[in-house]
Amino acid sequence: MKAIQKILVIDDESDVGEFVSAAADAMGFKCTATTDAKTFLEALTPDTTLILLDLLMPDMDGIELLRLLGERKCKAGIVLVSGVGKRVMETAGQLAQVLGLNILGHLQKPFRLAELEEVLKQHAAPEALQPAKQGPQIVIPKEELQQAIERGEFVLHYQPQIEIATGRVIGVEALVRWQHPERGLIFPDNFIGRMEELNLIDELGWIVVNRGMSEVGQFTNGDGKAVMLSVNASVYSLHDLKFPDTLVSLAEGHGVSPADITIEITESGLIKELSRTLDILTRLRMKRVKLSIDDFGTGYAMMQQLRNIPATELKIDKSFVQEMGNSQRYRIMAQKTIEMGHELGMHVIAEGVETKEQLGLLREDGCDSVQGYYFSRPLAPKALVSWLETYRSKLAVCAG
Ligand code: C2E
Ligand code: MG
Ligand code: MG
Repeated sequence: MKAIQKILVIDDESDVGEFVSAAADAMGFKCTATTDAKTFLEALTPDTTLILLDLLMPDMDGIELLRLLGERKCKAGIVLVSGVGKRVMETAGQLAQVLGLNILGHLQKPFRLAELEEVLKQHAAPEALQPAKQGPQIVIPKEELQQAIERGEFVLHYQPQIEIATGRVIGVEALVRWQHPERGLIFPDNFIGRMEELNLIDELGWIVVNRGMSEVGQFTNGDGKAVMLSVNASVYSLHDLKFPDTLVSLAEGHGVSPADITIEITESGLIKELSRTLDILTRLRMKRVKLSIDDFGTGYAMMQQLRNIPATELKIDKSFVQEMGNSQRYRIMAQKTIEMGHELGMHVIAEGVETKEQLGLLREDGCDSVQGYYFSRPLAPKALVSWLETYRSKLAVCAG
């Protein structure tokens, strides 16, 4: 027997919800319509297959709701409904994709019954609701991660950051990998989230900082001076008021200047304890540690990030870099980000540079530095040392 498809509608106009419910019921689906976010979230169960979500609602906006769905790792198919322009819907769709949501399409208000039926027919069929090519999600047991920490299986690969004006390597970004004894090298997207869930992320963070500081000394750019070190941290893990002091005393212990360290901050849309986070970030800056807003442009609220984080650097997300050659819209956004960063006195770096053309555009737009496969993939320390040697000799040839 075919399982009944469960549809959830949220729209502040109750007649829209009723209209959708009636159509869905008539087609044999089970549909619940609500006008408020609280009821909606209560009604949302893992077996919900399709969500029709209004983007413009007075008590909670649809974007906020999308973020919550992302946090809950919602797997239902989502159709965005709204009377706002197509472009706003497209942007919301992109945001939802970044949040890992399964967006199926848009319905522009006012819509006719035929259009609605078409959407339901197309998307509420079980095969249409399978999220795109997702492998089975393996939940890593806590003991396995703890063991990996004890055995020192977390290692760092480093990706060079190059100053466009001079071609010199000015820094490296430390990217953590799990060197698994049987499964080989495991990338961070497969375990960072899980470590956050298990409250192991702080411990991992300190492993990364310690390792990075002890290894960065060997990466020099020709003048014998070590390059700068960037490490990643989720803003949620910046809750320990002792963080700035601990970081600086570790740096001193390793002979690294705090001014040569950048903390790349991700996911800062909604900071839960703003005053505590601000305290930590401000004290880091007072100790001369640099702060970068990672993946700039993809987050929930860019202006809020800029207002809240006393950042010294903006890191343009790779999605912009990769699209800026094809899409005027992305190009303009990258240009404006660079301009705004500079007006705020920040260093602007772009990540994910894979081609000469992308580098050319970023140079034209005045971006300060770049990082990406065009120069080098993230490399193990030894490999980076050799890469730096050949890179420098190539640079010297260009300069001469
Ligand atoms: P991120 O900080 O934005 O790092 C950039 C990611 O893009 C890295 O993936 C890097 O390998 C990749 N990348 C670099 N150049 C290119 C390019 O030219 N093209 C493309 N397509 N990709 C490029 P990776 O190493 O898998 O890291 C993924 C994310 O994991 C990082 O994104 C960061 O958010 C997180 N992460 C990595 N290390 C740590 C860590 O030590 N602590 C925490 N909390 N998060 C980490
Ligand atoms: Mg980063
Ligand atoms: Mg990034």
